[in-house]
Formats: sequence, structure tokens, C-alpha cells
Amino acid sequence: MLYGALEAGGTDETGKIYEQISIPTIEPEITMPKIIEYFKDKEIKALGIACFGPVDLNPASETYGYITTTPKLKWANFDIVGTMKSALHVPVGFDTDVNGSLLGEVTFGQAKGLTDALYLTIGTGIGGGVMTNGRLLHGMLHPELGHMKMIVHPKDTYKGHCPFHGTCFEGLAAGPAIEDRWGKKAIELKDDAFVWELEAYYIAQALHTLILTLSPEIIILGGGVMHQTQLFPLIRRMTLENLNGYLKTKELSDIDHYIVPASLHDDQGILGCVKLAIDAE
Ligand code: ADP
Ligand code: ZN
Repeated sequence: MLYGALEAGGTDETGKIYEQISIPTIEPEITMPKIIEYFKDKEIKALGIACFGPVDLNPASETYGYITTTPKLKWANFDIVGTMKSALHVPVGFDTDVNGSLLGEVTFGQAKGLTDALYLTIGTGIGGGVMTNGRLLHGMLHPELGHMKMIVHPKDTYKGHCPFHGTCFEGLAAGPAIEDRWGKKAIELKDDAFVWELEAYYIAQALHTLILTLSPEIIILGGGVMHQTQLFPLIRRMTLENLNGYLKTKELSDIDHYIVPASLHDDQGILGCVKLAIDAE
């Protein structure tokens, strides 16, 4: 029997992906029937969903399983878990997209065996998944690491891209902020050293705070912007400079294996959904 994973696909508990398709996230009335149609005859025994948010992860809440106040307005207040449950009649596991990616890395990837880990995606937005003491962190909602406050670089005059906070982490360092600041596609800025120095400055500043608050055993960086792999050595160096020798751990002394790219060829999200499905069964 298969497990269903939405970011959509079908797999078994070993993490072998049997089939994978992509359905565009347009609006519920268009997208959901296609997803249901896909899964209907697959005879899955459980489904795992890792979803963009904010989402309601509190099982005691009346709106558990809903996408809540998302800026993707057509999806706001949409009951994604309820819709899939009533269509497929199987148990459904549910978490944020970034917790899903982290769970994929912890279950099947380079963070296997660790109990405290951080996954950050730097793409259209910035989001973070957190595992602490072997559990995905939810708390009152779920972490929203992309919106932490930043000290703006003295040479950066950009006003910031976040409609809520202007110059928060996402407002300064997500793909759209880079593109708005420099007036070019991020990929076209590849050879401009200052662009990536500034980008690394913000990421390393966030990591400084996250290392001190969450004490992760590994930090995995994913998302479109991290395709600029020249960022990794810059981020590692600046993070150590920020910490300024305050923490002495074996992880930090091997920084190349502490701050790392995602390891599952962009399948970390879907593989995390498999684990959500297994745990929901
Ligand atoms: P999403 O966050 O929507 O899931 P991605 O993680 O692919 O999607 O992020 C898309 C963003 O990443 C785009 O806004 C673009 O600015 C940036 N991006 C995509 N590819 C690259 C690249 N090769 N180099 C730098 N930035 C990139
Ligand atoms: Zn913000």
C-alpha cells in the first residue's frame, strides 16, 4: 500500500518515490479537483500534506487543517485537510511546507538521527522549519522565521519588500527583495559580488539569532536563492564572525558540515509528506 504526499505524489515508507506530478496552485476550485482526481484510484493508506501558510496546526482548533490568513487570497480560510479527508477517506498528516522539508531531511536525508535541526528556505519568501527535542515546533501557531527584525546593512538603502514590516528578513533577503532592490532577476546578478555579500550578511545575521535561540545541530538552507552556491562560504564565515567565538561546539568547529544545502535533490518536501502520512496512519 502507498502513502500519498501532497506536494503531490505517491511513495512507500522507504521513501522510494513511485510517481510524482506537479499541479499548479491556482485556486482551490481549479486545483483541488485535480489533486483529488490524481489520488482517487491510488489506494493510498494515508496522506501527508505540507502546506504554505500560515496554516492552523492545532488539532483542538475549529479551523485545524485550514490555510488561514495567507496573502494568496484565493486560498485564505480554505480547509485543505478536511477537503482531502472527505474526498479520500484516509488519515491525513499536516504541517507547514518548511517543517515538511525539515522532516524529509531528518527522516531520509542528512539530518537523520538528529533531534534539533533548522531548515530555512530563501525563495519567493523566507520560511523556517524547526525541530526541537525530536518534535517539529508549532507553539501558538508555527515559527515565522522570515519576518524577524533585521539590522539593515549601513550601505543598503533599500526600503524593504515586506508589506507588514518593510525591512524584516524576508523584506530584505527573499528573491523578490533582491530583484526589486537591484532591478534585475537574481540569476542575472550572479557576478555582482556586493549583491551576494549583502545577501549573506542578512542570512548570517538571522543565523546568529537562530543558533543562539534554537541551538540546532544542523542548519539546512534551501530555496531558489540558495542556488547561488557562492553564498555558502560567505554565510559560514559571517556567521562565525557574528558569533565571535562565544560558542565553542564540535558542530561550529566543522562549519562546512553545519551550514549546508538541502540533500534530497529538491525532494525533501515531498519526502517529509511521506513521513507525515506514516505518522498520521
Ligand atoms: P518558492 O519560494 O516560491 O517555493 P523558489 O524557492 O524556487 O520558489 O524561489 C523562487 C525565488 O528564488 C525567485 O523569486 C527568484 O528570485 C529566486 N531564484 C530562483 N532561482 C534562482 C537562482 N538560480 N539564483 C538566484 N535566485 C534564484
Ligand atoms: Zn515581514
